[in-house]
Amino acid sequence: MAEKSYKDELVGLFGYPVSENPTCIMYEAAFNHLGLHWKYLTIEVKPEDLKDAVAGLKAFNMRGINLTIPHKVSVLEYVDDLSESAKIIGAVNTLVNNDGKLFGENTDGKGFLKALVDDAGFDPLDRSAVILGAGGAARAIAVELIFAGLERLIIVNRSEERGKELVAHLKDRTSMDVEFIRWGEGYRIPEGVDLLVNATPIGLYPNIKDKPDIDYSSITENMVVCDVIPNPPETGFLKEAAARGAKTVNGLGMLVYQAAICFKMWTGMDAPVEVMRSAIEKEFNIQQH
Ligand code: NDP
Repeated sequence: MAEKSYKDELVGLFGYPVSENPTCIMYEAAFNHLGLHWKYLTIEVKPEDLKDAVAGLKAFNMRGINLTIPHKVSVLEYVDDLSESAKIIGAVNTLVNNDGKLFGENTDGKGFLKALVDDAGFDPLDRSAVILGAGGAARAIAVELIFAGLERLIIVNRSEERGKELVAHLKDRTSMDVEFIRWGEGYRIPEGVDLLVNATPIGLYPNIKDKPDIDYSSITENMVVCDVIPNPPETGFLKEAAARGAKTVNGLGMLVYQAAICFKMWTGMDAPVEVMRSAIEKEFNIQQH
């Protein structure tokens, strides 16, 4: 019989602030379900302490860490190697510690793509997409859609500067001729667009009545419409799209899959996706009541 070990395998999250981040719920449910002696620590790390925190991660021989605001870009200077997507995105949400060498990955766009392809059956190859927003989520999603063979991409953003900066970044790092449109009142989705993605925080709990300012009559039943907002899963945006016959994909799937990909990178095991999904669904229901 193997000798009993009381050692904890450690993973977790560095962010500032972190107190409202419920990611730990998914991992703890998965570790308990599989009987693993692993712990996910939600750690507040101020920007000026990131270097020491990374040294601490190595000193504790942690298996890896998730990064959230404001560390996704600044952590790059401590990373030894990056995945292809992370190189192009220019930000990571996950580090894997391989005996002191840190590998960086960005699983946000990959989680989105998995929900889109596996759950909604949508293949981006030779299709066209509109992304609302030009922040970190939009950037990760755009890169994965381009990798998956998307033919046409339009970035629609409120601030012209940020939108143009993302488009220039994507043109520079991929060979795609991405278009930019400044988000005006009641933006109409152009005809022929197959995929519409809300990659803004509009509609996120507790502002659940807010909806992106678009002309909803321009959504057609042929479109697939996705939201990055995980809480509530059925946003006003997705309800409007469903009412027009479009297939919808919510941000909860993206959240669960991006975590499931990290889980596999850290433990080497397939994640119990449904256990993780029901744990976070339960948590969001508690938040809302
Ligand atoms: P950023 O702050 O990097 O970007 C936010 C984007 O939304 C910007 O383009 C901003 O436009 C736009 N925006 C914000 N408010 C408005 C508004 N009222 N009207 C129009 N545009 C607006 O955020 P992230 O990209 O990191 O995150 C966006 C959302 O994605 C968050 O809600 C986050 O929770 C979610 N997310 C979900 C994940 C999941 O797994 N489901 C994973 C990662 C993120 P401007 O440039 O004009 O300010």
